[in-house]
Amino acid sequence: MSDFKQLGLSDSTLKVLEQIGFEKPTPIQEQAIPVLLKDEATDLVGLAQTGTGKTAAFGLPLVERVDDNDPSLQALIMAPTRELGQQTAQQLVAFSKGQKKLNVEVVYGGASIMDQIRALKRPTQIVVATPGRLLDLIKRRAIKLSNVKYVVLDEADEMLNMGFKEDIDEILSHTMEDRVTWLFSATMPREIKNIAKKYMNNPVEIAVNKESEVNTDISHQYVITKTSNKVPAVRRFLDIQPEMRGIMFCRTKRETQEIADDLGNLGYGVEALHGDLSQSQRDAVMRRFKQRSMQLLVATDVAARGIDVNDLTHVMHHKLPDQLESYTHRSGRTARAGRKGISLAFINPREVRQITMLERRVKVKFEQVQVPN
Ligand code: AMP
Repeated sequence: MSDFKQLGLSDSTLKVLEQIGFEKPTPIQEQAIPVLLKDEATDLVGLAQTGTGKTAAFGLPLVERVDDNDPSLQALIMAPTRELGQQTAQQLVAFSKGQKKLNVEVVYGGASIMDQIRALKRPTQIVVATPGRLLDLIKRRAIKLSNVKYVVLDEADEMLNMGFKEDIDEILSHTMEDRVTWLFSATMPREIKNIAKKYMNNPVEIAVNKESEVNTDISHQYVITKTSNKVPAVRRFLDIQPEMRGIMFCRTKRETQEIADDLGNLGYGVEALHGDLSQSQRDAVMRRFKQRSMQLLVATDVAARGIDVNDLTHVMHHKLPDQLESYTHRSGRTARAGRKGISLAFINPREVRQITMLERRVKVKFEQVQVPN
């Protein structure tokens, strides 16, 4: 706890941290919190992926800075997906509990906009939003950004990948010139640098991992197997490690469903998560996954974005991602909060070259393993 104290957090925040069981700051928290607590607020660019504790890195200072005597909207957090948005909002509520009377709302597409408009009528100091829905709400005058002092762009690279660039531009044009902006991103492509240049003022830059370097608590492994043998191979891994809990990434929705059905029909605790499921089906799948009534979640990259489950032992790749950089996002779902994890790729003999390319591009070392007998 003394470590958190050295970062300059208030006594009431320290008490909250004790209650929620955060004992030691993560590296990004150590670097970001003192900067974000400075009297004179500064812009910040943080190179960090999900699982590093970045939400608390910005969330704790944000909760300290927001004035709970002021009913106006003061902080806006943009996130690529509903799941990430909800998790962020939950953390902010937890950080403020018992110390500040803040109202945090989360708004996203795919849910009733009328309900969100109604919710926003209450005094709300912090809004977490996906960009598309936020823009809708601005256009309907359901939300006013003119008093927003803090803007957080969370998983900025994902937001750009999802095509939110123009929405973000337009949203930022509705905020004050002298707001502060904190941007977090797992990767730093040119587009992100451009955003930083355009919207930020001498940002402090921090990085917990060098660009595209992955977490060293992850062991990277691959097995060579014919495509038609991949599912039987997955079964062997599930059989010998009943304690395993993980996500298997597939490239297409169809493949995702087929593999989940194949394994499910054989009696394994396996279910699919992809964009053809309704929101309520996806919520139900995630609930079962979190409650551990499932061993393996088979998911597309898009559907798995922002899933926050801390104790996954494995990430599997039915195929490697088209864009090799996505490998970092995928494998970062395991080995979180200091735990160890395995990222296991199923490779057919012709794909072996991709492993060498990955080793070079993402700078990790792979170990070849055999399908268990
Ligand atoms: P994030 O990278 O923000 O998605 O955080 C990943 C997970 O780590 C979240 O579930 C947090 O609750 C947890 N976490 C963040 N910071 C700490 C900490 N200092 N100690 C323990 N758990 C943490």
